[in-house]
Amino acid sequence: MTKVLKSFARGRWFIPSGGLIDIPSAVDGKVVARASSLGLEFAALTRYARERGAAIRGMTFHERAALLKRLANHLSAHKDALYALSGETGATQHDSLIDVDGGIGTLFAYASRGRRELPDEKVVFEGVVESLSKTGSFVGAHMMSPLHGVAVHVNAFNFPCWGMLEKFAPAFLAGMPVITKPATATAYVAEALVEIIVDSGILPEGALQFVCGSTGDLLDHLTGQDVVAFTGSLETSEKLRNHPTVSRKAVRFVAERDSLNAAILGPDAGPGTPEFDLFVKEVVREMTVKAGQKCTAIRRLVVPSSIEGDVIEVLRSRLAKIKTGDPRSGERVMGPLASLDQRREVRAQIQRLRDEADIVAGDPGKAFESLDPAGAYMEPVLLRCRNPKSAVLVHEVEAFGPVATVIGYDSIADAVTLVEKGEGSLVASIHSYDTACVQELVSALAPYHGRLLLLDRDDAAESTGHGSPLPMLVHGGPGRAGGGEELGGLRGVFHYMQRTAIQASPERLSGLMRTWIKGAPAPVSIPHPFRLDFAEIATGQTVETESREITLADIEHFAEFTGDKFYAHMDEAAAKANPFFPGRVAHGYLVISFAAGLFVDPAPGPLLANSGLDTLRFLKPVSPGDSIRVRLTVKSKRPSRSPEYGEVRWDAEVFNQHGETVARYDLLTMSARPAPARKQTNPAK
Ligand code: NAP
Repeated sequence: MTKVLKSFARGRWFIPSGGLIDIPSAVDGKVVARASSLGLEFAALTRYARERGAAIRGMTFHERAALLKRLANHLSAHKDALYALSGETGATQHDSLIDVDGGIGTLFAYASRGRRELPDEKVVFEGVVESLSKTGSFVGAHMMSPLHGVAVHVNAFNFPCWGMLEKFAPAFLAGMPVITKPATATAYVAEALVEIIVDSGILPEGALQFVCGSTGDLLDHLTGQDVVAFTGSLETSEKLRNHPTVSRKAVRFVAERDSLNAAILGPDAGPGTPEFDLFVKEVVREMTVKAGQKCTAIRRLVVPSSIEGDVIEVLRSRLAKIKTGDPRSGERVMGPLASLDQRREVRAQIQRLRDEADIVAGDPGKAFESLDPAGAYMEPVLLRCRNPKSAVLVHEVEAFGPVATVIGYDSIADAVTLVEKGEGSLVASIHSYDTACVQELVSALAPYHGRLLLLDRDDAAESTGHGSPLPMLVHGGPGRAGGGEELGGLRGVFHYMQRTAIQASPERLSGLMRTWIKGAPAPVSIPHPFRLDFAEIATGQTVETESREITLADIEHFAEFTGDKFYAHMDEAAAKANPFFPGRVAHGYLVISFAAGLFVDPAPGPLLANSGLDTLRFLKPVSPGDSIRVRLTVKSKRPSRSPEYGEVRWDAEVFNQHGETVARYDLLTMSARPAPARKQTNPAK
């Protein structure tokens, strides 16, 4: 009996009460599964997510990151089941690698970013503390806190695993519960993924609900605390964005949708150059991986008119070598499209493109005698735009399959005009080794793209390619591409959080930020804080040092000792002629070395090491005869991965004898954690 796909709602698997839709295999048309969401109460799903959301927000970023990592490890160990099913969607082994391992990789990437770039806290402050008053008693900072609603994720059919995981990871890391809906055509792979996730028991209750089939009246129950993140076609995106509740309640809406991505071949990159070869290789790959059903695939090949014929000839011969076949065979083939419907749609779009372009390679209607006629197989199709100056459809019609169009240009300005006609894309690649050309194209095209790949002989060997969204870089694009911005490291997490400006006294803001701010109390610590272990150190604890004169002999000794005999330290006349100095001055490094000499408590103790300096600025010259003193204050602390020590960040401010700041920086140290405290999380909380 054909499998009926389940939803996972309110912590239980849900079997639909009817309205089942058959999902055919892309390979042989046989029904693989049946899906429906009939009977699901969407209001109850959103209520449940909101109720459970509080517990998810109650965890720190590090705790959520740790769960993402556990989940990624668990999925890695169970991914074979997903590979086995993916073949039915038309995906080859390599296509599945992008989908399954790419998705798992995104979980790992967010787990690691969460641990490294977010605090072990429930909120995060962004940017610098702004001084809002003359004396510094009124300051402001921006706090990001997770929204109190639910993240609704609607995905496209082409990457059922990656699509779900790349949206889930940042939302969960931010602290939001997720309701995810896969495209029905490949929902059986998504269901298998959710089954593995649920069986693992790793995620907290309510973190993930899964809707198989239509979303019913789900959007009616959203509020301004919710987020909708959509991937799919322009038409569906418009429908969802204009949903009355979404627009009336200003529900956040992130859209990744279709995009006519371009690859531009520079005028310098003629046949025989490495960039020409790279262009051909990249185009063939983008047309055939996942049978061209990638939102980032190259659709428009913008090439110099003078070598259009060469480009077409080489591509024609390379594409002829692509073997279309059954992805389950294990052979190196291009698999079928996701369904016969999808193939019909692609053929119809090619037909529209033919109003402005001729087919120069491939036959969209080709029958493959050795393959199942019920499979959605198709040959790669290359078109050539007849009149690039007046063509419109080649920039508008997305044939979501192994299809691309060659468009000739006469000048770089002309190439820019052509690419801009796509009205905003996810990605474009520039294939050129001419710096001026690359710079002109980048500055003209950046506002129209979410990502630009500059591919040449120097970066090709390690390039991840035109079509690969990466978790650390933004995925999305302006205009037609949806105006969205997913991934991009923490940028993707912040979509699920509210940025709030907090205005307060330094003391109040310090308490909220768990970070000492200048102007907040800085009690002198006895004993010296270098004698305190990580658990005993508290933000605000301060060392006020004695002062020390810096003599000319010190400066000369330092110059001889280090070899730094820069004229500003050694030559009175030359130093005076310099606009910054009154005469010979102390080395900045001498100042911070003496500063360390003043604040360091030398005996062995819990302070283990100095691990660096951040934001060092020399603010005023120090002349021979000046005296310096230091105020060293514990700014913040952060447990490290090791149970043996934690990182302490100190605000170091060096003053001269007039009380003027001559240098300021953050000093980073490692302090030992006491054995019993090793099991605790951040003792600052
Ligand atoms: P689609 O038809 O727009 O469907 C996308 C998703 O929206 C599916 O989950 C679909 O569910 C759902 N949906 C459709 N109508 C809906 C409605 N009225 N209410 C709620 N959900 C609704 O797109 P697709 O055919 O799956 O994907 C192909 C398109 O996606 C291409 O145009 C491609 O360019 C674009 N795409 C973009 C990206 C990107 O990151 N920018 C990535 C991949 C694909 P059902 O399947 O149940 O109808």
